[in-house]
Amino acid sequence: MRKFIIVLIVLFVIWGIPGCTKGEEKSLFNAGIYEGSAAGGYEDEVRLEVTFSKNKIRDIRIIKHKETKGVSDAAFARIPNAIIEKQSLDVDIVTGATYSSNAIIDAVKDAVEKAGGDVSALMAKQESAKPIEKGLKSMEADVIVIGAGGAGLAAAVSAHQNGASVIVIEKMPIVGGNTIICGASYNAVDPSRQKPLGIEDSTDKHFKQTYEGGDKLGKPEMIRVLVDNAYPAIQWLEGLGMEFRDITFTVLGGLWPRAHKPVMPLGTGFITTYMDYINSHDDIEVLVDTKAVKIIKENGRVTGVVADTPENKITFKANKGVVIATGGFSSNIAMRDKYNKMWPELTRMKTTNHAGAMGDGLILAEAVGANLIGLEHIQLLPMGDPETGSLLGNIEQNVENRIFVNKNGNRFVDEGARRDVMTLALLNQEDSYMYIILDTHSYPSEDVKNNFNESMTELLSKGKAVKASSLEELAAKINVDPENLKNAVDSFNKSVDSGKPDLFGRTLYQDRIDKPPYYAGARKPTVHHTMGGIEINTEAQVLDKNGNIIPGLYAAGEVTGGIHGTNRLGGNALPDITVFGRIAGKSAALTR
Ligand code: ADP
Repeated sequence: MRKFIIVLIVLFVIWGIPGCTKGEEKSLFNAGIYEGSAAGGYEDEVRLEVTFSKNKIRDIRIIKHKETKGVSDAAFARIPNAIIEKQSLDVDIVTGATYSSNAIIDAVKDAVEKAGGDVSALMAKQESAKPIEKGLKSMEADVIVIGAGGAGLAAAVSAHQNGASVIVIEKMPIVGGNTIICGASYNAVDPSRQKPLGIEDSTDKHFKQTYEGGDKLGKPEMIRVLVDNAYPAIQWLEGLGMEFRDITFTVLGGLWPRAHKPVMPLGTGFITTYMDYINSHDDIEVLVDTKAVKIIKENGRVTGVVADTPENKITFKANKGVVIATGGFSSNIAMRDKYNKMWPELTRMKTTNHAGAMGDGLILAEAVGANLIGLEHIQLLPMGDPETGSLLGNIEQNVENRIFVNKNGNRFVDEGARRDVMTLALLNQEDSYMYIILDTHSYPSEDVKNNFNESMTELLSKGKAVKASSLEELAAKINVDPENLKNAVDSFNKSVDSGKPDLFGRTLYQDRIDKPPYYAGARKPTVHHTMGGIEINTEAQVLDKNGNIIPGLYAAGEVTGGIHGTNRLGGNALPDITVFGRIAGKSAALTR
């Protein structure tokens, strides 16, 4: 009996209190064997079986296909191996066997989804990200970057452009972090794209909306750097080969049509651009499966990082500086609960974030004296998939052309408002549940994709969208009062015609909702972004609790605080991580 109690106590200590996180990483996949299928080239199906371990695609076995023999052989021989070798779905198509190649990739995607994996996270080139060599005890570079998301990779490329040798360490088996799975809306004042659309804008307006949208708690000097450098950072990315579309639009909670959209889906364009640079240069590399566990500080200066790898501990010596770019803590339930003061309860709420967003950087930085600020400011979105919390399946295109209705079919908020305002309003509706309602203006054809690379055809087939030829039919399908839904749409249409603020104060309008078919998609609140974090200055140097610089230590991205205040504007995360990542890399490289 005593033994049993001791075992129980030990288990309790290891696993923590039930209901809290264990402080361990979640995995990329639910381990097991999953079937995947996709339409093949000639009206037939490719069916296969994929074996997943917690963090890897282990094996792909073709069960059935009727693709033309000879033509498709090379695809079946090469594509599965390439996917396993690279742990990426972005593999080269076999020339002459395009249909079969794509069918195999699509079938593996299907299996990845069934295994609870995130397809978009596997869409970037991963090839130069490699695990560490066996037996290695230490490595050295001018700049060591912790985290291979958007901020870390921007810092790495920028440090290298400024003459430094660079090693990026990434704890997950793949690069990209939250950045690769985000909607990729990037706010920047850009007359070349905004003027042709008749959009007036200025960096002062971007500043004002960012500052006031965060209840004036963001540091003005940091916001100034953000808004002034957002467009130059787009030009920098374009110089590295990244392409953006010609449009700008208003993203959820973005307050103004200044969001840019990359040509490549989700955040894959950013990560692929950085990885292409890293692949084609010497003295810069990314090591995956390498988790920073300690920052080394000697005589008041940061000089390196200790990291755990599957093999052993490794010391990374930084001749010039260490950049912390580990992202936020939305996936760490215990940490969320510890700091949350804004919301009634977050323990059971799902998140949009990847499994690695555990707040490691905050713990690493605090251990060497860094000041942490604004940790209570946690951003929720009203846009989570009701089952998973993910942004996938979100049918909206832009703010102007859709409304939200609750389970009674009534509107309840200005759908162009701040994210915290909309989410709070949603939390007060029955079951915190709403439907986005829009029409053909948003989907001129069902091939049109949402911001997460899903076509309306796909959204309908996955049950994420419901379609109807009249509002009455739509109301019946989503089980809301038809009169209420009709009134909601009518009142919205009147405001579109008048262009005047409506009873909720909404001012952002474009088209009426009056062109069937109509579509609806269900959504719930989800944890999205943690605004607080490590305090830095405009040079991305980390500050201690007395406001002094910690020599050799830099930080950028979601791990930092002090920029967005209580509420980050939609579309401001990517300029933040790019602008400050770029500054952090340069500052570290130019350290004497
Ligand atoms: P940001 O948007 O600020 O760049 P991301 O979430 O995109 O944030 O990227 C942060 C990256 O840092 C993720 O890939 C995450 O797995 C990685 N990371 C987090 N903690 C550690 C750690 N302790 N060691 C190495 N990498 C880490």
